[in-house]
Amino acid sequence: MHTDPIYRPRKRLFIGVLLFACLLVLVVAFLVWWIPSVGLANIHPSLPLLFGSILGAVVLTTLGGLTLLILTLLTGRDFFFSDYMRGIVIKYLFPAIIALGRCCGLDRDTLQQSFIALNNQLVRARKLRVPADKTLILLPHCIQMFDCEIKITGDVNKCVRCGKCDISGLAQLAEEFGIPIAVATGGTLARKIIVERRPRFILAVACERDLTSGIRDSYPLPVVGVLNRRPHGPCFNTMIVLNEVRQVLKEHVLPPKT
Ligand code: SF4
Repeated sequence: MHTDPIYRPRKRLFIGVLLFACLLVLVVAFLVWWIPSVGLANIHPSLPLLFGSILGAVVLTTLGGLTLLILTLLTGRDFFFSDYMRGIVIKYLFPAIIALGRCCGLDRDTLQQSFIALNNQLVRARKLRVPADKTLILLPHCIQMFDCEIKITGDVNKCVRCGKCDISGLAQLAEEFGIPIAVATGGTLARKIIVERRPRFILAVACERDLTSGIRDSYPLPVVGVLNRRPHGPCFNTMIVLNEVRQVLKEHVLPPKT
């Protein structure tokens, strides 16, 4: 098991990019209104006002969404009272912000870490408590020791818990909480597992890239992402901080009935 302290990515970076996005929306909206308005006034004097009103409504909606997101992130409370709005944020706004951050020269991994942390906060703000059998722990196969002879894809319980990799601790934890656990070798298998098991809450362990796409693809299913550690390089004998997984489960999973 990896013993790093629990990793806390920088939320402020993403909030900074969000504020920059607000400014950009205002500047672009002004230019989009001002440039054609000169010509529109020649067609009819009231056209600039009409065009300005429509544009203003679009800008206010966008700024409202960005402001709600910043407030949710700063306070930890859920200001997105509808799944529809939360969906727009996760599916479209976050990726747009990541693209904007990339244009500003920010590191992709760092931005994706922020995305995952902020998604986790949005899930946390909903204060979900899900029965253990409606929860799913989804793992990447690279967590298994590369030369382990047991094929655990499909059934983690085949692991004999020799302790050479983190599958052992995770299987133990899943058993303790009574939660189903699965290993996916890629996005397609992960989707198949989700369709078959129909969980109401997923704890997914993976790298930045896979978690970012997994969270987006799985929406509206709430997914908390836990980053794996890669001391031996990507996709090879990766590790997790078991306590990080335990904390998420304690927060979102109802204790098994006795
Ligand atoms: S803990 Fe399980 S999966 Fe990992 S090396 Fe040992 S038997 Fe294989």
